[in-house]
Amino acid sequence: MTADDPFTRQTLSDINVWSPSLFSLRCSRDPALRFRAGQFARLGVQKADGSTVWRAYSMVSAPHDEFLEFFSIVVPGGEFTSQLSGLSVGDELLVGKQAFGFLTLDRFVGGRDLWLLASGTGLAPFLSILGDFEAWQRFERIVLVYSARTDAELAYQPLIHGLAEQEHLAEYASKLTYLPVVTRAQVPGCLHGRITTLLRSGELEQAAGLALDPLHSRVMICGNPQMIDDTRGLLKERDLQLSLSRRPGQVAVENYW
Ligand code: FAD
Repeated sequence: MTADDPFTRQTLSDINVWSPSLFSLRCSRDPALRFRAGQFARLGVQKADGSTVWRAYSMVSAPHDEFLEFFSIVVPGGEFTSQLSGLSVGDELLVGKQAFGFLTLDRFVGGRDLWLLASGTGLAPFLSILGDFEAWQRFERIVLVYSARTDAELAYQPLIHGLAEQEHLAEYASKLTYLPVVTRAQVPGCLHGRITTLLRSGELEQAAGLALDPLHSRVMICGNPQMIDDTRGLLKERDLQLSLSRRPGQVAVENYW
C-alpha cells in the first residue's frame, strides 16, 4: 500500500451472523477516515484470482466510534458478498479513504419529526445516525421503521431496544418510536405488510402516533429501490418532496441497487 492508494487495509475484529443471508462485520478504522452519519464507503475484497472487487457499504458505526461496522446481505452467487461472507476475524478488508453520500441530516432545513424508513440492510445508515447526537438534539420525535421479510431477518434488535439504556442517549430516549415491520407473516409486536401499504392505509402514522406533513416531517428512506420509489410517490402526494441542494425538501433517499 502506498500513500497514493485510494484505500487503507483494515483488519476484521468481529463477525456477527444474524441469519443465513445477513451478517455484520466490524474492523479497525483509519483515524484519518472522516464521515458523517448516514454516509457510505467503498469496501474491497480480494478474489482468488488476485483481482479486487469493490462495493458501496453504509457505515453502521457512528462517526465517533473507533471501529467501523458494516451490515451485509449475502446475495447468492454475488461477486462481492460471496467473498465478504467467507472472511474470518483477522482477515483484511480494504476500505476507501473517502466517504460519500447524501443520506445525511444536513439535507434538511427545519422539521420537528425525523422518520427513518429502512428495508433490509437499509437499516445500516440509520444505526449510524442514531448512534450520533445530532438527530436526538435536533428532532422532538424520531420514528424508526425497519422492514424485513420475517422476524428472524430483523437484525440489531438488542441494539435498537437498548438505545434508551445507552448512557449518552438516556436523556433523549423517549423521543424514539421503533416500528418493526414484517412482510411475510403476522408477528406479535410488529406491523404486517409493506411499508407502502402501511403508509397508504394510515396504519404507520397511527402506530407512530404522529402524522406526516411537510412542515414537521423529515423522511429518510434506504434500501430496496422499488420500495423507495413507491414510498417517494406516496409522500409526494402528501406534498413531501425530495430534498435537493438547490431546493431543500422533506425527503432524502439512498438506493442500494
Ligand atoms: P451484486 O451483483 O452487487 O448485486 C446483485 C443483486 O443483489 C442486485 O441486483 C440486487 O437485486 C441484490 N442486492 C444487492 N444488494 C442488496 C442488499 N443490500 N439487499 C438485498 N438485495 C441486494 N449492501 C449491504 O448489504 N449493506 C450496505 O450497507 C450497503 N450499502 C450500500 C450503499 C450504497 C450507496 C449502494 C449503492 C449500495 C449498497 N449496498 C449495501 C449494496 C452493495 O453495494 C452490493 O450491491 C451488495 O453487497 C451485493 O454485492 P454482490 O456483488 O454480492 O451482488
